[in-house]
Amino acid sequence: MLDLDKRSIMYLPGVGPKKAEILQKEAGISSYEDLLFYFPYKYIDRSRFYKVAEVTDGMPYIQLKGRILFFDTVGEGRTRRLIGKFTDGTGMIDLVWFKGINYVLDKIKTGVDYIVFGKPAEFGHIYNIPHPDIDTLDQADKVANGLTPFYNTSEKMKKSFLNSRAIQNLQYTLLSGLNWTLPETLPPAVLNRIHMMPFHEAMRNVHFPESVDKLRKAQLRLKFDELFFIQLNILRTSNQRKLKLKGIVFPFVGDCFNTFYKEYLPFELTNAQKRVVREIRADMGSGRQMNRLLQGDVGSGKTLVALLSMLLAVDNHCQACMMAPTEILATQHYATIMGFLKDMDIKVALLTGSTKKKERNKILPAIANGEIQIVIGTHALIEETVVFSSLGLAIIDEQHRFGVEQRSRLWTKNVVVPHVLVMTATPIPRTLAMTLYGDLDVSVIDELPPGRKPIRTVHRYDNKKAQLYDFLRKEIEQGRQVYVVYPLIEGSEKLDYKNLEEGFETFKEVFPEYKVCMVHGRMKAADKETEMQKFVSGEAQILMATTVIEVGVNVPNASVMVIESAERFGLSQLHQLRGRVGRGAEQSYCVLVSSYKLSNETRKRLEIMVGSNDGFEIAEADLRLRGHGDLEGTRQSGEGIDLKIANLAADGQILQYARDIAQDVLNEDPDLLSEPNQILNERLKTLFAKKVNWGMIS
Ligand code: ADP
Ligand code: MG
Repeated sequence: MLDLDKRSIMYLPGVGPKKAEILQKEAGISSYEDLLFYFPYKYIDRSRFYKVAEVTDGMPYIQLKGRILFFDTVGEGRTRRLIGKFTDGTGMIDLVWFKGINYVLDKIKTGVDYIVFGKPAEFGHIYNIPHPDIDTLDQADKVANGLTPFYNTSEKMKKSFLNSRAIQNLQYTLLSGLNWTLPETLPPAVLNRIHMMPFHEAMRNVHFPESVDKLRKAQLRLKFDELFFIQLNILRTSNQRKLKLKGIVFPFVGDCFNTFYKEYLPFELTNAQKRVVREIRADMGSGRQMNRLLQGDVGSGKTLVALLSMLLAVDNHCQACMMAPTEILATQHYATIMGFLKDMDIKVALLTGSTKKKERNKILPAIANGEIQIVIGTHALIEETVVFSSLGLAIIDEQHRFGVEQRSRLWTKNVVVPHVLVMTATPIPRTLAMTLYGDLDVSVIDELPPGRKPIRTVHRYDNKKAQLYDFLRKEIEQGRQVYVVYPLIEGSEKLDYKNLEEGFETFKEVFPEYKVCMVHGRMKAADKETEMQKFVSGEAQILMATTVIEVGVNVPNASVMVIESAERFGLSQLHQLRGRVGRGAEQSYCVLVSSYKLSNETRKRLEIMVGSNDGFEIAEADLRLRGHGDLEGTRQSGEGIDLKIANLAADGQILQYARDIAQDVLNEDPDLLSEPNQILNERLKTLFAKKVNWGMIS
């Protein structure tokens, strides 16, 4: 592609070092190619001119044609603004600028016809258009023919005069500088099959649409491209892996597994658990390396499946490890597993960041010589000092918490790649799973252990706290325990911790007769453990926490989950949190507390939570909500995959089509060696050079 990915955006006329830095930081644009692939998130029809007299409340973006009669500056300091009195003969409207006043005064003249574009607002019965785009009549034709694209821009970008319009101007400079032609990304055979718009025409139309029809075709072509290369990459790697990677064969179901299953298992497995265990057993006995994703809603009993799989490894004279994202979780898994195994003769060790040096010095050699058969731990497991004698199975719990690279480091611990089981309670919709883990085998536990009552979820506003406290008191009086969770969000940690601590004080005052404890990420591991233990043992009735308890923690007696500032959580996170209750036989509740003022999207999110207990349903809804391409200022992305134009919620069919075509290409030419396919090789290199190989690690 003309090496556009190697040409720095700094050298594009009109950019320079300062703007380049902002483009890079705020929009991830550092090369010519990044800019081209910075697509508009919406388009507005500018084919019609409105009259000033027609302007009413709640209009979308509109355009007017007329002139500014005079300018006026009003206000002082922060309220200082520039007003241009604008008319088209049918009425008057104010054009308003709070920033860049001198720039406007310098550029825009009174008494000259302009096209003015923006969103009217009402202020004290007078309509105005804040920060409108202004074009001379001839400029407007050149830039867009009716359809105006809108690009995401941050406040910082706008402050540096990189608004949506400026981005479009840069696109113009770039594309006209390239004579509007870009080389094809697909070989002729593929192009002949798909019958889509040529790449250069698609790029041009997505930034400068000639018509609605051409825009649609352009988007289709670019979505196809995006999904095609992702699928091609995944499928190629997975094919290679299947050829190369032999798995350790686990032929026996031996004493450990059988004894445990027959004599120690405290309850019968659910049918779903049985099925998944069978699938895993078949995989590990097949001679091919297992690479399996185990999805199961919170509370569906994944830990037990993990344990049974590890016992299979032990029966086959291999070690197994299980990695959890937090120390609390790892510790809990360890306790759970020890509880299950009771007096069985199996050596299990716990290894976390706070394992004492003395202890560590004992554990590490025992892992290295094979004496320890099962290791439970955190990131500590992937440190270089941890050497296994024969790691046969690696289990990763709650995978979305781990970075891609961290995961892959477990793999390299062995000469032979171990079997891998990734467990997640975040159900992944099909389209997303295909994109993220195109070659993973997927198992699903779609059944909860018997006797669980569905959790009742309600939404309450935070000005009605007294009622909430009454409700909590009643539950606690009946011997139950309560979680209260506060958000902890990157960028607002200071305030978030303050909210938690204030909440803690309030709860201690409101519930003097009970014990309230608190856990958060800033505490020392040992303190965290002590506080957590108070709750687990039942000594404390109320646990206040940040999202550290999000995954995995299991206290069956806790029956109420209160989520403060629920509007600040995503759907899947809310569902995860809710899953901490409803584990015992009692009726459980989840109370979503939010402020009164909510955006429509947020209100929807909370409604979905109130209306559904089904993780898959929620995940689909989440994808649809987040995938909504029209939300200003949001860039849609699947977990960890940055999609620039395709939308996994809406473009499932294109995805399937792209996958089929990619598979056909690879069936004919598995290593993409043929001359026409070199173009694909090159493109894959550009696209995935920096990224770790998805197919290989997941
Ligand atoms: P998750 O899938 O969220 O990790 P856990 O493995 O923590 O779920 O299991 C949740 C609870 O259900 C645990 O207390 C576990 O002992 C219990 N459990 C698991 N399987 C069964 C079963 N088949 N019958 C009854 N209880 C079960
Ligand atoms: Mg779990």
